[in-house]
Amino acid sequence: MPRVRGTNVAAAQWSPNGSITFGDLTIPGTSIYGSNVFGPDEQRQRLPKTIFRQLQATIDRGEPLDSGLADAVALAMKDWALERGATHYTHWFQPLTGSTAEKHDSFYGPVGDGTSIAQFSGKELIRGEPDASSFPSGGIRATFEARGYTAWDPTSPAFIMENPNGAYLCIPTAFASWTGEALDTKIPLLRSMAALDKSAQRALVLFGDAPQRVYTTIGPEQEYFLIDEQFYFERPDLIATGRTLFGAKPAKGQQLDDHYFGSIPERVLAYMLEIERELAKLGVPVKTRHNEVAPGQYEIAPIFENSNVGTDHQLLSMQVMQAVARRYGMVCLLHEKPFAGVNGSGKHNNWSMSTDDANLLDPGDSPHDNLQFLFFATAVIRAVDKHQGLLRASIASAGQDHRLGANEAPPAIISIFLGKELESVFTSIAAGEPAESAAREVMNLKAGVLPELPKDTGDRNRTSPFAFTGNRFEFRALGSNQSPSFANTVLNTIVAESIDSLCEDLEAKMAGTKKKPGKTLEDALSEVIAATYKSSGRVVFDGDGYSDEWHAEAAKRGLLNLKTTPDALPQLVSEQTVGVFSNYGVLSDRELHSRLEVALEQYVIKLNIEAETAADIAATMLLPAAARHLAILKGAGLTALAKECTTLIDQFTKAIKALQTANLDENHPTDLAEEAAYMRDTVFAAMNDVRAVADTLERTVADDLWPLPRYSEMLFIR
Ligand code: ADP
Ligand code: MG
Repeated sequence: MPRVRGTNVAAAQWSPNGSITFGDLTIPGTSIYGSNVFGPDEQRQRLPKTIFRQLQATIDRGEPLDSGLADAVALAMKDWALERGATHYTHWFQPLTGSTAEKHDSFYGPVGDGTSIAQFSGKELIRGEPDASSFPSGGIRATFEARGYTAWDPTSPAFIMENPNGAYLCIPTAFASWTGEALDTKIPLLRSMAALDKSAQRALVLFGDAPQRVYTTIGPEQEYFLIDEQFYFERPDLIATGRTLFGAKPAKGQQLDDHYFGSIPERVLAYMLEIERELAKLGVPVKTRHNEVAPGQYEIAPIFENSNVGTDHQLLSMQVMQAVARRYGMVCLLHEKPFAGVNGSGKHNNWSMSTDDANLLDPGDSPHDNLQFLFFATAVIRAVDKHQGLLRASIASAGQDHRLGANEAPPAIISIFLGKELESVFTSIAAGEPAESAAREVMNLKAGVLPELPKDTGDRNRTSPFAFTGNRFEFRALGSNQSPSFANTVLNTIVAESIDSLCEDLEAKMAGTKKKPGKTLEDALSEVIAATYKSSGRVVFDGDGYSDEWHAEAAKRGLLNLKTTPDALPQLVSEQTVGVFSNYGVLSDRELHSRLEVALEQYVIKLNIEAETAADIAATMLLPAAARHLAILKGAGLTALAKECTTLIDQFTKAIKALQTANLDENHPTDLAEEAAYMRDTVFAAMNDVRAVADTLERTVADDLWPLPRYSEMLFIR
């Protein structure tokens, strides 16, 4: 059997490792949910009452933490961790690379008599000092002062990560420079949640509600690919860049539409059951699993949580998904576009605002709830319209450039889909109908014999980047590999600003003047909604976001169309962005500039790695295969074919040379923004030229000589 077939047969083998035992779930204590989390239940049992109450006050009401309580919490946490076999602890944080970071320290230290004891102080719990110099800071951290601090985030519970050979305690932390500037994605997210809380409470009071804490919530749906690890390790491009830099389109792709929601292959289901089990232990409330559109593509979604915990859980999920795949002889690909010509992977960020008892984006049944809902929905529309460029920038990355705007992912133009019902509510209010009756007429349709239908049925628009889905908005343009942190930081901040702006208008109208009496809430609200919808409604679009007509129409409406990462990133430091972020104390001008610099750097570095990997694979793997093939043709006296092959090889050699030259250091512009544009326009273009010839060669060269696993194998053999 040729090498290729042998590999494929090996890849198709797997035997269940049967590592999961399942018991009678009706017996108390069988559920493993949260068993590796130092959550409220565990805290209550282990902490002195007063300490527990103080800690809860910090967590529930955002009250500052009394450092006196740290020692007691540390002691309880350490005992809990040791009971579970954890020998080490780590501050777990989220530097600007977009992933997570950890540095493990042992609980154990030697004592004079040759033995060692486990210790963990409050100081070690609340503060760490990792060497910040190895993390990107975008110029915030001068080289002479490399210090950075991690600080305990008590609102996200500590957890234990298990390895076959041991366990360690992870403490979620924020990461800042010694000057107090954020070097991570958690700090701004927490600041943005606080900002929205304040603005939303102000609005609730206007609506006559008692002030109460408002949280933002997220439920991220995560798409991913699974391929056999045998193929993965045969592809230097997947290893180095996470995506295939070569690969001809397979005869069978996703045309048959036979994968989506199809039955889940046994090996994949076994894997899913294990990640769900691991995540359950970590307290991640995983709810949904299914096949996605592309062959080899799947989705996992949790139940929503507050944005901070939800983000931590999302990052943990990505980590667990990748780790567990190897136990099944597979690799989990989280790149936004691992295979050209096949659907890419996104992350749908379901987002809402909520008090302890009510979702503020749920239309509700009473007039009061309807009005409140309309108010908050209006704030979102205004925010998305005003800050469309920033939202676009918040999801920009090298991986996303292959997907956004293509015929499978949302367009690069940010618009909102409201659904027919809600859009007609807004248009009638804008046309002068009072808010209350417009809302009641459309949203309280109750058709006698039918059970009351949930309001989010039916109306869906897969082409919209930002869609209302019944009781939340779904920001559907995030990339599979992205932390949801920054996109949510942006959402929270810009919506906070819009809520305040609408509140000001409402307050002014309701107060009235000496001559004119104040208006009722209903009347004032109708006017504010009408005016806001008139000025921001251009961002609302319910048609086909993929169509050329929409691009033309969007341009007419003055909406931004930022096609690539280098186009979008400057929005991070636009006057408007700097304004809203500094007004709400979420990120300073300097912090924003540092983020721009890191994002540009990451873009350039990623493309540079891709370009070098592509040139190496082409020169050292594909070209030799083509040369061997040519020798066979010549040896067999197949002159005409040999001539064609020679032409291809010549083209290929030229294209490789051109790529190598384009990516020479001395040819890169020195200015970072210019370099990013150069990578996109020149280096990436040169890579595509190499790929075009390579993909033709793949269909020409003898099967047993071609050194890379093909799309037809990677996507279909499992
Ligand atoms: P669909 O594929 O139809 O969008 P899924 O069930 O796959 O639906 O995912 C919906 C996601 O939306 C889930 O993660 C769910 O927890 C989340 N979600 C539901 N309500 C809210 C909310 N109020 N805030 C944030 N996320 C929410
Ligand atoms: Mg969805």
